[in-house]
Amino acid sequence: MKNKKTVLVTGSSRGIGREIAKLFAEDDYNVVINYNNSEDEAIQLLNELNSKNLSARIFKADISKIEEANALVNYTIGQFEKIDVLINNAGISKFNLFTDISYDEWHEVMNVNLNSVFYVTKKALQYMLPELQGKIINISSIWGIVGASNEVHYSASKAALLGMTKALAKELGPSNIQVNAIAPGVIQTDMLNDVSDETLEILKYETPLMRIGKPSDIAKCALFLASDGGDFMTGQVISSNGGFVIN
Ligand code: NAP
Repeated sequence: MKNKKTVLVTGSSRGIGREIAKLFAEDDYNVVINYNNSEDEAIQLLNELNSKNLSARIFKADISKIEEANALVNYTIGQFEKIDVLINNAGISKFNLFTDISYDEWHEVMNVNLNSVFYVTKKALQYMLPELQGKIINISSIWGIVGASNEVHYSASKAALLGMTKALAKELGPSNIQVNAIAPGVIQTDMLNDVSDETLEILKYETPLMRIGKPSDIAKCALFLASDGGDFMTGQVISSNGGFVIN
């Protein structure tokens, strides 16, 4: 257990994070699955991985709260002694006209999507920096690159993650810690539950690869960035989006 690499994946009870946790466990990592509300899903994933003799733990933490974010990192260290890879994945989206966004909603989106990344990363670095190695992967979004109407708060939080990724990469490079971002396109998860079938069809039509993404598309990118293949990459944004956004 201790000679394996350890990955902490925030928000891995469902969707993209869940797929990342699975893929890393199958790749022989110790995996800490973090959930907040979806306890049943997290337990089900844990059982699935344990039944295959894969190394995984679950921990409940609302990472938008500093104490819970710290507890998540401490739990990971308590279980596996180190964090080799941190994947800041947990996020929420809200759909509202800018003029209708309440102060509470604005702060909720910023707390979950952005401030939590500061909290978890700051704590994890206490343990990663002395090792002089490690990889941090932030899950942003294409909307952080191009902006989404009716999702100004979401877009702003995801754009901020890109700035954070680039700046932190410069600061941590001399310590041999790579910081990169993945900016997914439209990916089939619960986050799309409120998007109509008609809108999904339009999005598909506007995507050169003619399909909506799968959580596994993003998980594979994360596994690559965490691997030796990502050793000379830092401060970069990989956008797995089917060609929907081409810079
Ligand atoms: P999802 O299916 O809604 O899953 C979100 C995950 O985040 C859940 O596991 C949820 O845990 C967790 N989470 C939410 N708030 C949390 C909190 N306060 N503390 C801890 N965990 C929390 O969403 P998804 O589509 O997989 O999204 C994952 C990431 O990809 C997000 O950052 C999202 O912005 C980004 N992304 C998604 C898309 C897309 O089209 N799906 C596109 C671009 C970027 P619980 O259910 O246990 O609370």
